[in-house]
Amino acid sequence: MRWSFKIGSLAGIPIRVHATFFLILVFVAFAHADDGPQAIARGLFFVLLLFLCVVLHELGHSLVGRRYGYRVRDITLLPIGGVASFENMPTDPRQELAIASAGPAVSFAIAALLYALVVATSSFEPLAQLDVDRGSLLERLMVVNFFLGAFNLLPAFPMDGGRMLRAFLAQRMDYAAATQIAARIGQGMALVFGFLGLFTNPFLLFIALFVYIGAEQEAAAATMRTVFQGVRVCDAMVTRFATLPSNATVADALAKLLEGYQHDFPVVDERGRVIGMLTRTLLLQAIARGDEGGPIGGLLKPAPDDLDGSLTPETPLGDGIERLRAHGATSLPVLRSGELVGLLTLENVGELVMIHNARAHTHGTSAAGATGQSLQPER
Ligand code: ZN
Repeated sequence: MRWSFKIGSLAGIPIRVHATFFLILVFVAFAHADDGPQAIARGLFFVLLLFLCVVLHELGHSLVGRRYGYRVRDITLLPIGGVASFENMPTDPRQELAIASAGPAVSFAIAALLYALVVATSSFEPLAQLDVDRGSLLERLMVVNFFLGAFNLLPAFPMDGGRMLRAFLAQRMDYAAATQIAARIGQGMALVFGFLGLFTNPFLLFIALFVYIGAEQEAAAATMRTVFQGVRVCDAMVTRFATLPSNATVADALAKLLEGYQHDFPVVDERGRVIGMLTRTLLLQAIARGDEGGPIGGLLKPAPDDLDGSLTPETPLGDGIERLRAHGATSLPVLRSGELVGLLTLENVGELVMIHNARAHTHGTSAAGATGQSLQPER
């Protein structure tokens, strides 16, 4: 995710913080400004503890996902909560159900643990007397963890409850249809949130928008996945492309860029192994910095150690596209036992969708906005 940076890692998973997260800290500091520095410090401490709980929630998703063999790219903290990004999303509904449930389960477990602690230290206060600033720290943390678990169970994408609902439906019908239904329910709930938000808390309006867009994206992704069912990377990859030697300069790369249609270039060492990708954006940034005579070595993306889980011609295209998305890349190299055989580019994938739509049109169905049921017989 852009504008986020790594603050550490847990269980080998990088923990990143989005720049906007600091808005929350500033907001909390301002809210307590009248009550003196001690109140500000207590407010900030509480927010940090809360976000530690959010990290544990996301870690719940991540560790269960990893047990099923999915690669977790990172956990990112946003002002509205956390996101655990997987390199590929589970397609088995039972696995998805387990992964989606794990987060709320962690939140409820933390709440239960804190409840036991609060009762054991007999510092329990009636919940009605609790406030954001009043009551024992542990008890307030218990309440927010409970709400974190409960809120995430709402059956609306991108909340965990939306995924659980989809996984539940997908055991009874095909995946795309299940997603469409879950997405519609999510958008219905978003409208209710939005309506309530108008009259009560404006923050609900914000959540409504977030849920509405999340549902839309999820539905589009599921339709894509249906379109690409059974299609492999080799069916979509570019096989005629140029490469750059690792000792090339920015000026060499610029000349290559102007020569043809290609935007991103695989960079190979003397033995022909891919050591990274040079994208047009990175190239233009280097020129803007005045590095035109410099080597391209320091510009490459993704980092060479990121390439070990690289695409092969046999990778399902859906996974390939997820990988492009996860890397925020417009193209990725395709390797067959270490040898560069193609490039998977967003542009070519887009063309494949156009071809698919054109074909579907001649058969009297449209893939754009399709429910997916007409496209996919199995599952
Ligand atoms: Zn969650």
